[in-house]
Amino acid sequence: MNVISKQISFPTKSEGDILDITKKVSEAVAETKLQNGIVTVFVTGATGALTTIEYEPGLLMDFPNMLERIAPKNFSYEHEKRWHDGNGHSHVRASLIGPSITVPFIKGKLTLGTWQQIVFVELDARNRVRNLVLQVIGEG
Ligand code: ZN
Repeated sequence: MNVISKQISFPTKSEGDILDITKKVSEAVAETKLQNGIVTVFVTGATGALTTIEYEPGLLMDFPNMLERIAPKNFSYEHEKRWHDGNGHSHVRASLIGPSITVPFIKGKLTLGTWQQIVFVELDARNRVRNLVLQVIGEG
């Protein structure tokens, strides 16, 4: 068994960005030459999140609309009272979605559904440079 760590870095443009990182992750897995295993993708930071979605225009609106219903921007967050940095909603949204995702791969290919993409969600109230850690565990 092998454990191979990689990093992916990219800038985000603004709050609400939903970036399809499927290609980056599958390329990183391919580079390891491992055939069967799992890849965990983890965001270092408490205001970003990772999940999967069908990357189509309807859901790219439905998903942020859902976040606004569950954790509205216009709400009195204790984090905001304490830090005044305008991102209380960002933090609770990020905690809800989660900071990582694990995807199995078989014969070097991610086992995603045809319409299932891995996405990074920028939840902070401003643009950021994001660093993702990929931990690939598998056998060749
Ligand atoms: Zn904050």
